[in-house]
Amino acid sequence: MERIAVCSAVISLLFLISCPSAFAGERHGFSIKVFTSPGDQFWINSVIIEGTHEVMLVDAQLTKTNAERALQEIRETKKPLSIIYITHEHADHFLGLEVFREAYPRVRIIANSSIVDRINEVYQDKIDKWQKILGSGATSRVVAIERFDGNFIRFESSRIEILQHIQGDTDENTMLWIPGKRVLIAGDVVVNNMHVYTADTDSKARLLALERGAKANLNALKQ
Ligand SMILES: [Zn+2]
Repeated sequence: MERIAVCSAVISLLFLISCPSAFAGERHGFSIKVFTSPGDQFWINSVIIEGTHEVMLVDAQLTKTNAERALQEIRETKKPLSIIYITHEHADHFLGLEVFREAYPRVRIIANSSIVDRINEVYQDKIDKWQKILGSGATSRVVAIERFDGNFIRFESSRIEILQHIQGDTDENTMLWIPGKRVLIAGDVVVNNMHVYTADTDSKARLLALERGAKANLNALKQ
């Protein structure tokens, strides 16, 4: 039997840092909602950021069925989807892209260039694999992702910072930080009450990341 491996057993995602009242988002002109895939036992998170005039999506689900469910939530805002950001290379974060691209042909789809390269290496293989498993519940075509290596995304009047090259469930994860709301969209870097997906990392890589983190903290304390 084919091993079904997705990273979404690692969930977690979105943290409100010390300012829960900002979650509603009215003061800052946008609100944030986490869509978690129902029914596929992977609990894949996508984050929907609703601005005054537009919507941004972080991560695009694995199955066509659940991408369509997330799409429905976006449609209910009555605002166009203008940006999709992909946090890392795992299939449960990008395979659903075709659903959003079809619904919003002008949407800008972006990820760090090293992540785009990694996705493009496996994109068709992942489609083939999940079509065998899910049949019509799977997506069927490759969608182009734009290489984007900036340090921040401008979304309406907000600046959303990109934290890059982070060890998470790969050695090349990213996270988004929204300073005005003190919200961290952590992708598959921070895990809560789930078993961490470890198939793409090993103890050596994780130890190295811990040591790097400890060094960074030490340096910060010295300053
Ligand atoms: Zn992952």
